Amino acid sequence: MSRLVMKFGGTSVADLDRIRNVARHVKREVEAGHQVSVVVSAMAGKTNELVAYCENISPLYDAREYDVVVASGEQVTSGLLAMTLQEMGIPARSWQGWQVPVKTDGMHGAARIMDIPPDNLVSALDRGMVNVIAGFQGIGPDGRITTLGRGGSDTSAVAVAAALGARCDIYTDVDGVYTTDPRIVSKARRIERISYEEMLELASLGAKVLQTRSVELAMVHKVPLRVRSSFDDPDSPFQVTEDGRGPGTLVCDEDEIMEQQVVSGIAYSRDEAQVAIRRVKDKPGVSASIFGPLADAGISVDMIVQNVSADGVFANLTFTVARKDLPRALKVLEENREQIGYEEIASADNVAKVSIVGIGMRSHAGVAAKMFRTLAEKGINIEAITTSEIKVSVLIDEAYLELALRALHSAYGLDAA
Ligand code: ASP
Ligand code: MG
Repeated sequence: MSRLVMKFGGTSVADLDRIRNVARHVKREVEAGHQVSVVVSAMAGKTNELVAYCENISPLYDAREYDVVVASGEQVTSGLLAMTLQEMGIPARSWQGWQVPVKTDGMHGAARIMDIPPDNLVSALDRGMVNVIAGFQGIGPDGRITTLGRGGSDTSAVAVAAALGARCDIYTDVDGVYTTDPRIVSKARRIERISYEEMLELASLGAKVLQTRSVELAMVHKVPLRVRSSFDDPDSPFQVTEDGRGPGTLVCDEDEIMEQQVVSGIAYSRDEAQVAIRRVKDKPGVSASIFGPLADAGISVDMIVQNVSADGVFANLTFTVARKDLPRALKVLEENREQIGYEEIASADNVAKVSIVGIGMRSHAGVAAKMFRTLAEKGINIEAITTSEIKVSVLIDEAYLELALRALHSAYGLDAA
């Protein structure tokens, strides 16, 4: 009998009717002969509410108690779903993270899963039970409840699937992964299959459909991951087949993808701010004097561009930080002005980052050039560029973001027919 992990996000369990709908999806898979384990999130909005309680008590709350509070949202939905399944005649039981156990490290609030001994879950499956596991939670080395960071129940689901040797279906409120945001580009298409590497880039670039860590974990353990909608009719005959077809998007090994596009997806982020430092001395140690204090202040820097003046004496440095970090970044640079020795600082927070992602870039030349040409034809100026093996990101004026996305989507042949 094949094992299946089904994960349902917050909007999928937002109220009792939605939970009943989830139970029908589970019932279908049980009747299809799978051994099913379910991982649930808290009801939509619940975790935000719980986080707000903690912050209200003290901005310096004890992270161990924070975990106790925020883990409770998943405790509720796991119990409710187990009850609903029982009501439908399906043997089921709930599991809290500590009961499984989902063993994590001790980083309260952002813990990493270290190990999930599968024995308890397996013996319940062998007795014909559906396991309903509270996502997002685990138990730390101190024996206390931990949570995995926001969006962490995706990671719970993949980790459980890896432990059980199961495939993993992530049910959410969209019907898959799209070539870009369909709210901006109406011709965006659902992607049938995407490689782990590409999904990892898209997730870390801001496509919110999967927590980045969950994709990493799926890639390492080769867990086939499917993103699909819980709003689809649970009784629809269109379901996953042996050869991996079906609703939603399959995230899998690149070898399993026949028709590989050069560019698979285009991501964007408005959460960007740009800092330009003018006329610093072009000598060893200058970058360290800038980025060291920023790192010490916990500010992470993304894109970095340096250009040196013709006489080779001075350099200009441009880099980006998350928008919320801009005021702090400017303060740190001001405090270190003597040390760094710059003439002037300019900043802007009306910038956005656009990234093209595709493993086809490894073997095709001219992919980046096409991006630059396409933007140039639209009169869009590029402020900064970064690349990796399968990604090119550019920083542009936020006012042109939508235009850039549409133009690039067409240029790479991604538009729906
Ligand atoms: N409920 C948690 C959150 O909102 C975990 C999750 O839903 O993935 O972050
Ligand atoms: Mg989520």
